[in-house]
Formats: sequence, structure tokens, C-alpha cells
Amino acid sequence: MKQKSIPFNKPFLTGKELQYIEAAVKLGKISGDGEFTKRCHSFFQHKFRFEKNLLTSSCTDALEMCALLIDIKPGDEVIVPSYTFVSTATAFALRGAKLVFCDSDPQSPNMSLDHLSKIITPNTKAIVIVHYGGVAIDMDRLIEIINSSANKITIIEDAAHSIDSYFRNKPLGGIGDLGCFSFHETKNVISGEGGLLTVNNPLYSSRAEVIREKGTNRSSFFRGEVDKYNWVDIGSSFLPSEVTAAFLFAQLENIEEIQKKRTSLWQRYKNRLHDLPARYGIQVPTIPEYATANGHLFYIVCSSLEERTALIHHLRENGIHATFHYQALHISPFAKKNYASEPLPQAERYSDCLVRLPLFYDLDLSEVDYISDSVQNFFKINSK
Ligand SMILES: *Cc1c(COP(=O)(O)O)cnc(C)c1O
Repeated sequence: MKQKSIPFNKPFLTGKELQYIEAAVKLGKISGDGEFTKRCHSFFQHKFRFEKNLLTSSCTDALEMCALLIDIKPGDEVIVPSYTFVSTATAFALRGAKLVFCDSDPQSPNMSLDHLSKIITPNTKAIVIVHYGGVAIDMDRLIEIINSSANKITIIEDAAHSIDSYFRNKPLGGIGDLGCFSFHETKNVISGEGGLLTVNNPLYSSRAEVIREKGTNRSSFFRGEVDKYNWVDIGSSFLPSEVTAAFLFAQLENIEEIQKKRTSLWQRYKNRLHDLPARYGIQVPTIPEYATANGHLFYIVCSSLEERTALIHHLRENGIHATFHYQALHISPFAKKNYASEPLPQAERYSDCLVRLPLFYDLDLSEVDYISDSVQNFFKINSK
């Protein structure tokens, strides 16, 4: 029998990506903010009702724009989850923020709102939340916690995992003051590198355009609102080229197809592995009644680092590339040097014990069955 080889992730085409890139060139403009960027912006407005959409060259860029927009100054307190990608933190570290790390929940890698309510202080300026795997944080409870604080706290959603996922019918990324999406090749909808800033609080709308265009009012100039464009603020080059936007728009046109496929793969894993908690004490994702599953990632949480290492090794022997995820930020070399943190036991547990299984558009249900069987076999052999 031929040895199987299932990668962890694989970029994919849905149909018109290359055709649209060619079309962008023929339209005579492949720098930013051309026809395909406009089409992407209007897609997000119509599909998700996001008020103001600005494509960026990455989610990291969108997060950096947030730090500029809310005027983070050295020493300002910003709460971020410990169990997240570094960009959630570095975007604010760049402006000199004092980062305060929040632990995860025992039930899911999402931020623990119990812990959050203990670490908010009168100096908390912003909270950056991550809906891990596209599964919403309880936004009602989060907003209640924030409203009971005396100071004004800005909510930024790092919605990198969360396209087409919802909290009680509200699309994620559209609930906080600002939202940030990623179209990196590992996400649901891809353009290689790419991102989106959604401005949900109109307070930030006009300045967001300026910051994205190197601190100039060039966007107003193109709309004919001013007769020349000037340097009016700080900023940088945060916009993607039309080559990226053209690729992305082709994917967005097929978002329903992509989501249908990914959620069916996710559901199959869930069905095949639903008995792991009861049989072996292994944690699997659960979806609270207020949240949806958008098929971004499927994970299981082992009982120890040793068990996880052995499982990854076992899967590799069967030709399956499974992988761990984040390393808790509060114990990273940079954070240890720069920010004080208490131990965060849940974030540390997910760092050591969580495994992500392959999940990408071109994966088949039969491959999910094969992977699930390999996982089941591992626990059957190794459980005492
Ligand atoms: C992928 C990811 C990012 C970074 O996205 P880029 O588009 O690669 O900059 C940020 N936050 C989270 C939670 C992510 O998963």
C-alpha cells in the first residue's frame, strides 16, 4: 500500500483567482485601492454589514493600525490573551504598551472572563480578544464586565480565525470597536498574506483611512473631497496590492462553498472523536449555545506534554502532519524580560497539550476518517 502523506495545511484555488489577477493587470492598476479592493470592501459591507472595511496586507498590519488609532502611548495598559499568536501582542508592544496577559478558560482556549474581570484596572485602556478557532467569546458577558469598569475601555477583536462566525447572529469582527481579520494561507479564506480592518466605531473611520495611506488624506483626494493630498497624520503603508485583492475577491465569491466544506470536515472530526472525553479524558472543542463553528480548526487537548509528543509522533508514522499551536506569551523570552505576569495555568496547559489536526479545503472526508482512526488507535494502545 502506498504510504499516505497528509499535510497540515495546503493553499487552494476556488476557480477565478488567476483570471482576476490577469484582469487587474489589464485594468492598468495593480497598486492598492483599485477595482478589486473596492469589490472586496463592498463584499464585506453586504455580506456581514461591516460599516467600514479597509483591506490591509495582513492581520498584523490591521492590529498595528488599531494601536495607532486608539493612540497607545508608552505605559498604557492593554490586556491580551496569553494563548494567542504573537501579533496580538506585538502590535501594541510596538507603541510601548504595558501588556497584561489574560489566562484561558478551562473549557476552551478562549480568554477566561473570570480571570479578565480580576485583571482590569482603572488604567486598562484596551482589551484585545481572540475568538479561538472562530468560536465566539461570550460578548454579552464581556461587555457587561467592561461596562462595570469606571474607565472607557476599547474592545479590539483579533478575528483572524473568525470569518463567517457569529455571536448570537452578530458576525465576529463586527462587535468590538475595531476588528482584524487575516487571509494568511492557513486561514479559511486566503490570499497568501492579507488582512482586513473593520471599523465598527465611527469615531475611528476617517483617521483609519489616513493612517493606512502613509498619514496622507489621499483617500479623500480620490473621492474629490480635497483638491490635493497632504501629509496630515502619522501612518504607514498598510494597503495590499490589487494582485492580492484580486486573488482574495475570487475566494470571497466562493465563501459559501469554502465554509460548507470546512464545516463538514470539522463536524466529521467532531463525530468521529466525540467519545474521547468520556473514554480517555481528552478535551475536544465544544460550541456554546451563543456561538457557531466556522470550521477554522479542529483540536484535541492531551493530558500531558509527553502524551502530546507521542501522539504527534504516532500520527507522523501514519503519514499525518498534526501540529501544536501557540506557546503562551507570558512565559516567552520577550515577555519575561518586559512584563510581569502571574502563572497562567490554563494557557500553559494549552501550550503543552493542544494538537491541531489537518483541516484544509482540499482535504476529503475519507482522510478525516483515516486521521480520526489513527487518533483513536493511539489512545486505545496507550491508555491504561
Ligand atoms: C494568523 C493570526 C494573526 C496574524 O495574521 P497575519 O495575517 O499573518 O498577520 C493574528 N492573530 C491570530 C490569532 C492569528 O491566528
